[in-house]
Amino acid sequence: MTRLRDATGMRVLVTGASGTFGRAVGEALVARGARVAGLDAAPRDDDPFAVLRCDLTDDDAVPGAVAAAVAALGGRLDVLVNNAGIGGPAPAALAPGEEARRQLDVNLLGTWRVTAAAVDPLVASRGRVVMVASRMAVLQLPLAAAYGASKRAMVAYADALRHELGTHVGVSCVYPSAVRSPIHDSTAAAGLSLEGMSKLEPLEGVVDAVLRAALSQRVLRDVPTTRRGGLELALARHLPRLADRIVARTLAGRVRAGALDGAPLAATLVARHRDAAR
Ligand code: NAP
Repeated sequence: MTRLRDATGMRVLVTGASGTFGRAVGEALVARGARVAGLDAAPRDDDPFAVLRCDLTDDDAVPGAVAAAVAALGGRLDVLVNNAGIGGPAPAALAPGEEARRQLDVNLLGTWRVTAAAVDPLVASRGRVVMVASRMAVLQLPLAAAYGASKRAMVAYADALRHELGTHVGVSCVYPSAVRSPIHDSTAAAGLSLEGMSKLEPLEGVVDAVLRAALSQRVLRDVPTTRRGGLELALARHLPRLADRIVARTLAGRVRAGALDGAPLAATLVARHRDAAR
């Protein structure tokens, strides 16, 4: 069992704070006595803590928004939760267009911009950075190459940050699998839903993992959100060929069952599978 620090009075900044995970994580931290501020592209009227409007793809806007959020927290920052992110269909076999660029811009560079703007107060407080990555940072799935690449790059960025700030700042990555949220809507609308590839997990496990990363006595490097998630991370890292075979078999089963029929972005993949099966 992870021993947690008392969060009372801790100052926390959460990105994507009006979204599914961001709101739940912020609320859980407020309930533990932390002072929480958020950044989001579209704050909501009913946000339970102060959320400033900021598009994390805007190089010029991010430093000022982070400074304003830290000022609203009383000039101190103990924990940064890099949670903002987007998904969307982006097969590896098709040239990267606006969809792929946007995912890399938000998920990787947005995280980078916010973190760089928060380094000084985090160093001053000997704080923590928590990256909400994804199981897909480690275990890639087909037809979502931009998302998987952006999350793997996010974890690489976390590794580099740890090397640079590790004397003063703890850096952790959290690896959720699939949780019901609007992030899946555009992928589902393209007929490329991950249902059948990923098992849904509860939001509570994600909140609990982020809290453990933020508040553990000892800095945790990698934090899965379920027991199964921990096993999948270990499998992907230590037995990657077996992980590839499991994903390939699952994909082949979904193609055979017709789950990707009617999805234009999957048409050539489906044709290749049918060709290979002949
Ligand atoms: P969500 O409900 O869509 O929340 C994401 C939030 O980030 C939204 O409020 C969104 O604002 C905001 N955001 C998007 N682009 C932004 C930008 N350019 N600048 C500022 N804010 C921006 O998604 P979620 O499920 O809570 O996901 C949160 C994080 O968990 C993401 O990093 C995601 O990749 C990761 N994750 C999710 C799952 C899952 O299955 N849900 C699994 C693994 C990892 P808008 O609503 O205005 O776009």
